[in-house]
Amino acid sequence: MRRVKLILPALTEATDPYWRPIKYSLFPPLGLATLAAFLDPDDEAVADEHVAPLDIDDRPDLVLIQVYITNAFRAYRIADHYRARGSFVALGGLHVTALPDEAARHADAIFLGPAEQTFPRFLGDLRAGRPLAVYRSTADRTLHRVPPIRRDLIERRRYLVPNSIVVTRGCPHHCHFCYKDAFFEGGRSFYTQRVDEALAEIERLPGRHLYFLDDHLLGNRRFASALFDGMRGMNRLFQGAATVDSILSGDLIEQAAEAGLRSLFVGFETLSPANLAQSNKRQNLGRDYKAVTERLHRLGIMINGSFVFGMDGDDEDVFRRTVDCAIERGITTATFHILTPYPGTALFARMQEQRRIVTRHWPLYDTRHVVYRPARLEPEVLKQGYDWAYREFYRWSSITRASLSHGTLKHQAKHFVYAAGWRKFEPLWDLVIRAKQLPQMTPLLESVLARATERHAVDAGPDPLTTSPRSSCSSIGVS
Ligand code: SF4
Repeated sequence: MRRVKLILPALTEATDPYWRPIKYSLFPPLGLATLAAFLDPDDEAVADEHVAPLDIDDRPDLVLIQVYITNAFRAYRIADHYRARGSFVALGGLHVTALPDEAARHADAIFLGPAEQTFPRFLGDLRAGRPLAVYRSTADRTLHRVPPIRRDLIERRRYLVPNSIVVTRGCPHHCHFCYKDAFFEGGRSFYTQRVDEALAEIERLPGRHLYFLDDHLLGNRRFASALFDGMRGMNRLFQGAATVDSILSGDLIEQAAEAGLRSLFVGFETLSPANLAQSNKRQNLGRDYKAVTERLHRLGIMINGSFVFGMDGDDEDVFRRTVDCAIERGITTATFHILTPYPGTALFARMQEQRRIVTRHWPLYDTRHVVYRPARLEPEVLKQGYDWAYREFYRWSSITRASLSHGTLKHQAKHFVYAAGWRKFEPLWDLVIRAKQLPQMTPLLESVLARATERHAVDAGPDPLTTSPRSSCSSIGVS
């Protein structure tokens, strides 16, 4: 094998009105760089169309394309182009696993599920001239002895967070709207690296800042505890994602803060227990969201709260209640989504059975468009409410209000700068990206992430929001 090209096509093309260069210049394509480690050292190139135009005038021997739902049509066009030129084209990723028949029409081989075990098998078959059409990940999944990720293929200066890292695969939970169960079907759906291998990978990363892209960094308590133990004294600052139940139970979150955790993506998703139950989001049911936010505030961990609109229990009131709650609780940044039934999920199966899917135009499956018939909302109202929620949450007055919910001046300032920096200075980010100066922003990011703990609980008294029969902001999820 000589010429190999690994491609991550753009999720949405750069001409799209929603294109936000900073959003697409955050993380390098780790999945492809992981598979590249199985190739010969001088054989391959990684092309990430999110950060650089794609040159397709070449004719590699092997083209490997990672397919997400919103880049699927573009990925297929690129695949068809290279097959017409005589390259061997292999496709893998979430969308390929969800809809293998669709993907197979554009590929010589497809990968279903995680590819750490199947990709080396495929390379052997290809060298022997007997590649299969389908490689399906099965029960032998492990991250042990996977060679170190080929970070030398990543152009660090093109990314705000070149030090992104993944030390687990999957998640122990089974939310009905999540891609995870379909992707990991046929084998384990949650497993970790060995702690020593994860720590060695961290040691190899320069600087202080890290971003764990794991679905649930606290999902395996023993692993996470040993990892944080090993990281203490490394002088790292890091960000990651975890569930509300893992934040409330035991002292794992304190261990994480001690190791350097400074911001956490938390899937609150909905204020309604009925929505949680219908989505099989059991890990949130009966949990006190107020206790979650206060515990994170006390530890100086900023919160990126994830919220979904359009579940069957949602009516026109949901947008105002959710945004008010997020501001009131001092959530630093919010990620809002329109409910999206991804193919392969239990949600998609239910919607299809109920004949509620209105389009299969995959680029619209980006959580910004309504692609199904909501139960209690008109589609236009859902879309307008979603747009309004983003505008309202990121108004200067809202950012100020949310910042002031913290108990110390340092924490207030940190919240304000982080939230404003993320949404309010887009033209400045574009300029920095175009000048390829993103690494210059790392010290600024690190100083914003510096620790600011709170001496007291934010408020010890009764929560006025709990007096509303519709909005249990202090105890969302308690049925
Ligand atoms: S907790 Fe998150 S990653 Fe895990 S199944 Fe639910 S949505 Fe998916």
